[in-house]
Amino acid sequence: MSNTKKDLRGGRSVWSDSPHTRVSHRSRLVGETCDVAIVGAGVSGALVAARLADDGHDVVMIDRRPLLTGSTRASTAMIQFELDTPLTKLSDQIGAKAAARAYLRSYRAVQSLKQVIKRHGISCGWRDRHALYLAGNEMGWRGLEGEARQRAKLGLPSEFLAQGPLRDRFGIDRTGATWSEGAAELNPVQLAAGCLRAARRLGARIYAPHEIKKVDATGRGVDLTTSEGAVVSARRAIFATGYEVVDPIPKGAFEITSSWAIATKPLDPTALWPSRCLIWEAADPYLYIRTTPDNRIVAGGEDSGLTDPDRRDSATTNKAMQILAKVERLLPGRKLELDYAWAGAFAESSTGLAHIAPIDGWPACLAVLACGGNGITFSQIAAELASRWVRGREDPDADLFR
Ligand SMILES: Cc1cc2nc3c(=O)[nH]c(=O)nc-3n(C[C@H](O)[C@H](O)[C@H](O)COP(=O)(O)OP(=O)(O)OC[C@H]3O[C@@H](n4cnc5c(N)ncnc54)[C@H](O)[C@@H]3O)c2cc1C
Repeated sequence: MSNTKKDLRGGRSVWSDSPHTRVSHRSRLVGETCDVAIVGAGVSGALVAARLADDGHDVVMIDRRPLLTGSTRASTAMIQFELDTPLTKLSDQIGAKAAARAYLRSYRAVQSLKQVIKRHGISCGWRDRHALYLAGNEMGWRGLEGEARQRAKLGLPSEFLAQGPLRDRFGIDRTGATWSEGAAELNPVQLAAGCLRAARRLGARIYAPHEIKKVDATGRGVDLTTSEGAVVSARRAIFATGYEVVDPIPKGAFEITSSWAIATKPLDPTALWPSRCLIWEAADPYLYIRTTPDNRIVAGGEDSGLTDPDRRDSATTNKAMQILAKVERLLPGRKLELDYAWAGAFAESSTGLAHIAPIDGWPACLAVLACGGNGITFSQIAAELASRWVRGREDPDADLFR
């Protein structure tokens, strides 16, 4: 069985010192029987668990690591409906109608995520934000103008900002940008912890650290066996194992890479940019930036195929300095001091869409690979798809995520 444990992160993430991230859980697992078993208690598993427990299902979660120490801790948690693949490009890849559905679904998912947070009273630093998508070497101003037009036709809140207004409003010197409502920033570890606590309150049993080593189909559904030989017997199983693939999840849908991020020391709020919008760019290599409630700048990018943990971690200082220099070039005249630098496993599909689908030949198993720059938006979509799948119904957008 392939379930190799990866080194998912290096360095120290800005969320490492966050309060309110503890979740009570069980450490002794001798055996369990449940309606739905969820393997993986990162932000994806946590959102799925909160939803299914809220739907009234008897849920058991198992994670091989101490809780919330997987890739969720590395996320910079910009919450966007705008996908890594622009609508115009996605239309060429999967057809205009499917691309429109993907964008509209993603827009609704950000709104539903906000409702989930409100419903469970989760304190995770959610702030509504606009998003500024800057012209770069992957898409110039003409492309972005067309992108904004195509989004607006779908009713999505995006408009084009030309060079002059962009410079006047933000002091940013680029040939153009799209300006969109409907984004947000949050603390991903607090979000996941809040969802796990909500699931627990609703009856879910959370076990960690326990590794699922073997999966067997049974007459009732599926048996999951841990490394210590304990068996979790479930009617259905959901694999939200992030960048680690467990048999029988199909491999090869994503190429695993590494991504780096930094956080500056807190700044005077007046040194931040107007509206504190999320800023990202249509460029390769790319840069993206956001703020935190304590007035830091969080920035990331510089992805590379370097996945060996030692080489990845020894590259972190250089990558962090490159990211910081890029932020200083984008937002000149600010004195920035580095406080945190970290690296995390990352992956994207060829379309930028997540893989959330029943596993071929395993009717009782659902795979959730909510990866990429919209990972958390996709985790919310996974919770919605899982809710229908458990009830034997198919979501109208399920085909987009196969
Ligand atoms: C640097 C960086 C920046 C990012 N920025 C953003 C962003 O701005 N916006 C956004 O939306 N997304 C972003 N993402 C992506 C997002 O963070 C990920 O999509 C998300 O963290 C994945 O969550 P997860 O729950 O699927 O994975 P994880 O948090 O890794 O959780 C999976 C869990 O499964 C467990 N597991 C695996 N195998 C087994 C097994 N056999 N038995 C038991 N347990 C198992 C692991 O221990 C782990 O805890 C970013 C990611 C990185 C690395």
